[in-house]
Amino acid sequence: MKVALLGLGLMGLPIAHRLVHCGHELITWNRSKERLKTAQDEGLNVTPSLTEAVTAGEVLILTLSDAGAINQVLFDPSVKPLIRGKTVLQMGTISPDESRDIGASVVDAGGDYLEVPVLGSIPEAKSGELIVMAAGSESAYHQTLLMLRGLGKEVEHLGPVGKGAAVKLAMNQLIASLTAGFSQSLGLIRAEGVEVEQFMGLLRQSALYAPTFDKKLKKFMEHDYSNPNFPLKHLIKDIALFQKVAEASGMNGEVANAILRILRSGQEAGYGDEDYSSLYEAINPGFDAETDTGC
Ligand code: NAP
Repeated sequence: MKVALLGLGLMGLPIAHRLVHCGHELITWNRSKERLKTAQDEGLNVTPSLTEAVTAGEVLILTLSDAGAINQVLFDPSVKPLIRGKTVLQMGTISPDESRDIGASVVDAGGDYLEVPVLGSIPEAKSGELIVMAAGSESAYHQTLLMLRGLGKEVEHLGPVGKGAAVKLAMNQLIASLTAGFSQSLGLIRAEGVEVEQFMGLLRQSALYAPTFDKKLKKFMEHDYSNPNFPLKHLIKDIALFQKVAEASGMNGEVANAILRILRSGQEAGYGDEDYSSLYEAINPGFDAETDTGC
């Protein structure tokens, strides 16, 4: 299948490599020249011309940061007429309404639209073990199912456009709230000088344990959030989207609001481009390594 992938960021680049590994004919495009050069140096087929990429692909995969970026790229006057007859797979995390609007505009332009937000990050993208939450056009789903199975260990069709985006926001709300909840408990354990391993041993035996706690523990212990797979700034975007959707549906948005405030204070403290688990530092400010007996 001829595929054009637009957006070679943290997720786009490994997904592109995975598509090549699975035997797809791939052309890639990125707005900034630096990322395009990296992709080229890594052996990917790249073009600096957006219209060339869109013309070449039967399937267009969007791995762009947000709905604003998608609208700018896909509905640029030079690109929109080229969408006719193409299948658009939207992989970024956006809201159900944003996805429905983009989907409707794709269909208006004569294309087919499937939203396919994913759970998992760079390692899962590289190994083809993402969780793929497809929703939208059945024909686009069947056309691309084999390709999606190369990217994801779980590929499910969830219904009309918006359902995949909703499930993805629900998942990312859990990323934020589980990490915030664990950060609070771990902060208390360290402040009280309890042995962290003793606490973890008990937690692991309980129904409260989540694997993400151990995945992030080293970062919390070392206060090192560098080389992120998923930066804090993207989680802020996602929780802001969650909060908007939750409040519009009549839900009490206080929990999401509180988490969003914590995340934003982390960004103000300079953690925006660091791993999202740096929210630990916003919850436990004033940490002093000298007195942290829990390490
Ligand atoms: P990223 O590393 O920040 O990459 C963002 C991409 O979007 C870059 O290629 C960037 O191009 C492009 N872009 C942004 N604004 C643009 C514009 N106005 N016009 C053209 N291109 C634009 O983000 P990422 O981590 O790959 O995430 C991409 C999407 O997947 C996001 O919605 C994110 O929430 C979601 N997601 C991420 C992860 C993860 O673990 N990282 C996991 C699942 C889902 P430039 O190089 O020109 O800036």
